[in-house]
Amino acid sequence: RLHKLPIRFTTPRFSLPSFSIRAMTSHIVGYPRMGPKRELKFALESFWEGKSSTVDLKQVAADLRASIWKQMAEVGIKFIPSNTFSYYDHVLDTTAMLGAVPPRYGWNGGEIGFDVYFSMARGNASVPAMEMTKWFDTNYHYIVPELGPDVKFSYASHKAVEEYKEAKALGIDTVPVLLGPLSYILLSKPAKGVDKSFSLLSLTEKIVPVYKEVVAELKAAGATWIQIDEPILVMDLEALQLQTFTNAYSELASSFSGLNVLIETYFADVPVQTYKALTSLKSVAGFGFDLVRGTRTLNLLKSGFPPDKYLFAGVVDGRNVWADDLAASLCILEVLESIVGKEKVVVSTSCSLLHTAVDLVNETKLDKEIKSWLAFAAQKVVEVNALAKALVGKKDQAFFASNATSHASRRSSPRVRNASVRKAVAALKDSDHRRATSVTARLAAQQKKLNLPILPTTTIGSFPQTGEVRKVRREYKSKKISEFDYVNAMKEEISKVVKLQEELGIDVLVHGEPERNDMVEYFGEQLSGFAFTVNGWVQSYGSRCVKPPIIYGDVSRPRAMTVFWSSTAQSMTRRPMKGMLTGPVTILNWSFVRNDQDRHETCYQIALAIKDEVEDLERAGISVIQIDEAALREGLPLRKSEQTFYLEWAVQSFQITNCGVKDTTQIHTHMCYSNFNDIINSIINMGADVITIENSRSDEKLLSVFQDGVKYEAGIGPGVYDIHSPRIPSTEEVADRINKMLAVLDSKFLWVNPDCGLKTRKYSEVEPALRNMVAAAKLIRTKL
Ligand code: GLN
Ligand code: ZN
Repeated sequence: RLHKLPIRFTTPRFSLPSFSIRAMTSHIVGYPRMGPKRELKFALESFWEGKSSTVDLKQVAADLRASIWKQMAEVGIKFIPSNTFSYYDHVLDTTAMLGAVPPRYGWNGGEIGFDVYFSMARGNASVPAMEMTKWFDTNYHYIVPELGPDVKFSYASHKAVEEYKEAKALGIDTVPVLLGPLSYILLSKPAKGVDKSFSLLSLTEKIVPVYKEVVAELKAAGATWIQIDEPILVMDLEALQLQTFTNAYSELASSFSGLNVLIETYFADVPVQTYKALTSLKSVAGFGFDLVRGTRTLNLLKSGFPPDKYLFAGVVDGRNVWADDLAASLCILEVLESIVGKEKVVVSTSCSLLHTAVDLVNETKLDKEIKSWLAFAAQKVVEVNALAKALVGKKDQAFFASNATSHASRRSSPRVRNASVRKAVAALKDSDHRRATSVTARLAAQQKKLNLPILPTTTIGSFPQTGEVRKVRREYKSKKISEFDYVNAMKEEISKVVKLQEELGIDVLVHGEPERNDMVEYFGEQLSGFAFTVNGWVQSYGSRCVKPPIIYGDVSRPRAMTVFWSSTAQSMTRRPMKGMLTGPVTILNWSFVRNDQDRHETCYQIALAIKDEVEDLERAGISVIQIDEAALREGLPLRKSEQTFYLEWAVQSFQITNCGVKDTTQIHTHMCYSNFNDIINSIINMGADVITIENSRSDEKLLSVFQDGVKYEAGIGPGVYDIHSPRIPSTEEVADRINKMLAVLDSKFLWVNPDCGLKTRKYSEVEPALRNMVAAAKLIRTKL
């Protein structure tokens, strides 16, 4: 039996028509596509494997859409979105809508079907997929449009209209959602081989005619409102970009007549100039703003809002899992009403609910108290509606009361606050928490102890996670095997990995991480202040989802987390064994974080917990410790004005973790991102003794920083081969890469390692690849 939430008891499934003079208006920006139990994921994967038909896949998708629309209608939402569903990605859907298919996919015109669509998304036997990259500062990845001067845009996918009609046939009038022309253009990249002088922006006027056709068709189908998402407006736009935006929308104005158009922004507040340009658009009926991440949105609105327009007020957080503080939101909404007029406020979510989990109802294992503090997408829909009702004087007292009770319980719960953790973080404030000696002095001390060859070889941490390893972990978790058997199985695996590395001749070893399911979850499970869901999936890309832990309370480390495994592994070899930890910034960025304290406070707490672990490892005789900060770059705020502060506390958090170790203990860090030329100074400032970085897929972009004369005087290991591909690099190829690096980096600083962990690869790929890597390092050593 599904556990029923209090929410469900207090909210009627069918809301009665409102009898107040003013109609209540509620709006949802977008909704998760995967389904409450990842139904779409399984349908897609079975389709891709050829195990089910097009019809099967379409049926699952249609059922999901219908259930979402019905759910929102039953709750009472006035503006229900359509076309926020996607078989893979909404940016790719827009590429299909515009007929902007790169020539290599061999599309010959006509309506774009699954074969061309999925080839662009995933590649096919003969053509690789299009590139994928992060959607703003979320963990969702979109397919990057590739555009050049020769693209012939045409209306090639009628998905938006079809989905509008589909909902209408179910008796639900929806608001079709389109990704706007400026966002589309600025999220794309120039196609390969296109002349450097080509400007993507110049294509905007070429896609506007297609948008006009789409809008006209939506209008003809009966749509009275459409939503155009322009999240790019929250970025720092150049004058020309903003001008292009204004031009595009004045061009579109004629097709907007007889239609209400909402321009939706999210993920931050919009800069002042952009706000002015946006709110001066006459042809538009409403504007949507993020009032959660957009901390200055309220001030912007106070500075002026056009009298005849609707304000879609994104007060319910679409990026997190916490129950809304309804009383607080209601206050804000009332302030907004006083600014823009009583009839003009529409209650909304801060952004699409795509970025939160789907339905709390399926959380059967969550602690009851913690559960009462949460709201996933389905519950947020109810919250939006409750706020809208309250605004028109139809406040559901019981619902508000139970919400207030859950907030009071969260505020006062002893599980949320830990006095000694707070004291420790407060004590951090004034002094500098970094290692006292220079990296040059430390490297010398470490070399004395470690006695490593020049161009030392190492790996990033994980070794292949075989079916056998996963099975043992699973059986231990479900108590099918004893702790004793589990530990022995893991020890055996570690010993295999150690022997293999010794045989390959690797200099600094790893234990292979067989005991870890995931680099964040593993630590979250052992730290206090974290909770885990069973179905709290969030789409990452395509059919892939992640299940971020929830940080609900002050973070502390009850006991050592990795010392047993690392010292066991060290006892098996005379070579240095790297201790392997996930850094505080990465743990933070890959979790749902609490919203009752600043992110940096939470990060400092995690940093102190990791610091304890680092020092325990050192005490246990581990003299090389790697603290992974794979996700440091992706937490960078969207707006330049906020980046300095983030980098400051992120770097500090990392420094805190290892400020207490001896000079002879070598601290490594690892990053899965090569594009940090813009934050290189912060990376240097982290003060790691050695940094390993993903590099091989970026055309040596990384190395160009060093060419530009950036002074880096610590150890550095730009990956010498791509672990994301099954391809085995040859010795010559690796040697060639090393030589390229030596052209810009001093040999005394260079390390030789793969791009990232080997977890997803097979032994049959890893063994020869590492063998060639070591051979290449040895070859070059003889020539230095
Ligand atoms: N140590 C981790 C591993 O090797 C690092 C993974 C990552 O950077 N994403 O798996
Ligand atoms: Zn990595």
